[in-house]
Amino acid sequence: MSEYKTTAQDNYIQVVGKTLKILKDTWQITPRQDIRVHLADEWWSGIFPHLTSIEYVWRRIYRSRDEAIWEKSAACHVPLSRCALILLRSRPAPRISEVSVGSRLFQPASKEEQEHWRLCHEITHACTSHLHLPFWLNEGLAMLVTDLYAERQTIQVSTRPVSRDEPTPSIDVVQLQNLSEDEWLAIYAQSYWRTRQLFDEHPQLLQQALCHSQ
Ligand SMILES: [Zn+2]
Repeated sequence: MSEYKTTAQDNYIQVVGKTLKILKDTWQITPRQDIRVHLADEWWSGIFPHLTSIEYVWRRIYRSRDEAIWEKSAACHVPLSRCALILLRSRPAPRISEVSVGSRLFQPASKEEQEHWRLCHEITHACTSHLHLPFWLNEGLAMLVTDLYAERQTIQVSTRPVSRDEPTPSIDVVQLQNLSEDEWLAIYAQSYWRTRQLFDEHPQLLQQALCHSQ
């Protein structure tokens, strides 16, 4: 069993614990690495304490995909050799994901709830990164687990696609950086509703997809 550590508030430990229990009880998914949650304002100050010397050199030379995501996000999962690191912004700035897209995608919630949902979402990524899921299922699963964590619908019903036959979004994280806000919203909404439909109507298919990847 992997351990998890947090430099953030104690109540984050409860979020980590509850999310891990949902993943294990529902799909037998367990983390492959220690999970560390770190509050940070800046990318480098956040990841620096967790890098090996080789990773330090590598990341000084190459700008990573995670770094690009962090610039637009209030939270980020960074797979490292020592741990699965989750960075949370200690002072959330107005970013695309939480102001424009977030307010249209997520149900209204308190600041604390939003922070817990973000953490739950990133923990799910940290526990499933070894499965190499397609983008839509990776994001859809993280949003679905957040529903199970919150014990309510966290995505706005108005984002549901009109047609059930809309194609499954095919995109990767690199392309994501170049999308407009409307395209972001559409991709995340489609990913969520497709995964939600799978979970509600064909849970065994979802289980097989996740087991098959393990
Ligand atoms: Zn995500």
